[in-house]
Amino acid sequence: MDKKDTIIYEAHGNLYLNITNRCTSECVFCIKRYSDGVYGYNLRLVKEPALSDIIKELSNIELQKYNEVVFTGLGEPLVRLDDVLEITRWLSARGMIVRLDTIGHAKLLYPERKVAEELADAGMKIVSVSLNAHDEETYNRLCVPKSKNSYSKMLEFAREISKSGIELRFTVVNLPAVNIPECREIAKEYCADFKVRGYGGQI
Ligand code: SF4
Repeated sequence: MDKKDTIIYEAHGNLYLNITNRCTSECVFCIKRYSDGVYGYNLRLVKEPALSDIIKELSNIELQKYNEVVFTGLGEPLVRLDDVLEITRWLSARGMIVRLDTIGHAKLLYPERKVAEELADAGMKIVSVSLNAHDEETYNRLCVPKSKNSYSKMLEFAREISKSGIELRFTVVNLPAVNIPECREIAKEYCADFKVRGYGGQI
């Protein structure tokens, strides 16, 4: 029997969307390197789900049971920006709080677009950007981004998110190479919430 891909899963009273396994980085700490997923869900997609399949699956869920719906999963949701916008509009129209977890490379993916404004217009409430490091050299070592200037472009995007009225959050992974107090200071400077995430793999 064919295994059905997990495109929507629940945990902590939230609903999580796993819409792609593609990414603009190859982080050394990525879950993909040591696991197939989280909370017992296998998040490796055999096939990237079509927008219509995601909406259809969401339609069968009692959304009001959940605190928020989060774009996350085993990949970078913004590689599917137009679908993220469409799903966000659909969820916002149903009164849901929508959050995006992102590595924050929107300005490299879509240099011609105003992604922060587009997300705000669609109804995105929270954007959690993976800050991941206190400086560019550490960032490049830990995140192995596929494009140059990813650290500065990520910070630019974060600034635009903050200006757009969307709540900004920065996250870092609790690794020895990361200067957490310095990252906390960067978060303060950007008026962002700050969250330190645990690491489940080997150091
Ligand atoms: S940005 Fe996220 S999905 Fe992409 S490699 Fe890093 S940890 Fe993995």
